[in-house]
Amino acid sequence: MPTALEIEKSLFDFAPKSDAMDWDNVGLLVGDPAAEVTRVLVALDATEAVADEAAAKGCDLIVTHHPIMNCRWLPVQSLREDTPQGRLLRKLTRANISVICMHTNLDVAEGGVNDVLAHTLRLEDPGPFLADGLGRIGQLPAPMALRDFVARVSEALGCNGVQYADAGKPVRRVAVGGGACGEYADAAAAAGCDTFVTADVGYHVFLDAAGKGINLIDAGHFPTEDPVLPVLIAYIRGKFPALFIEKSASHREVIQYYVKGE
Ligand SMILES: [Zn+2]
Repeated sequence: MPTALEIEKSLFDFAPKSDAMDWDNVGLLVGDPAAEVTRVLVALDATEAVADEAAAKGCDLIVTHHPIMNCRWLPVQSLREDTPQGRLLRKLTRANISVICMHTNLDVAEGGVNDVLAHTLRLEDPGPFLADGLGRIGQLPAPMALRDFVARVSEALGCNGVQYADAGKPVRRVAVGGGACGEYADAAAAAGCDTFVTADVGYHVFLDAAGKGINLIDAGHFPTEDPVLPVLIAYIRGKFPALFIEKSASHREVIQYYVKGE
């Protein structure tokens, strides 16, 4: 069976480490590189529920998209049982479960987060959007009413709800940025897009986008990134056919929507 290090190396062939942003933290972050791996659980995040699921299923490796520690929003300075992050890391270590994280390097990878998002929304000819490789721009074969496209986004990504701002344009040339890419709405407008699909968009970004003539759709962080997981699983399965590997059943979208009048 492959070691954790061999699986990390193979994943870096798909999504090279050098493509990760400088503030990011990717690769084998927890565990013994020399440990043999037999069972793998794949999830967007290594939550405590995912760690419990991995232990219950006898998995010795968790592969996630978001870093489990020491990236921009999750500094780890201690490993204490009385902090959520410390408790999680101690639990994984006690259970001998390794963790590999593939984050911004997977966002930009060919066939990674943004390519999968563009394909899931049935955009044609998805090509580069931002200079650092983040995001994609693709076309619809014919213009579509925004409301219909929002419905497609919601259905295709399995969203609990979608927030959007209408700039009064039909949808034809669409930029996508999986996860929190609201800051690039200006760049999407400058690139001639009429619509931008991303997540974690703030009030002022919505307000500015409509004024700048670009429809802005916030489809949620989990729904815009989760579609990459089956691709990741298929890649690992192709490289290491003897491994047991499956998608986490416990990790799902946690954000619910209450809609006026429903
Ligand atoms: Zn993300």
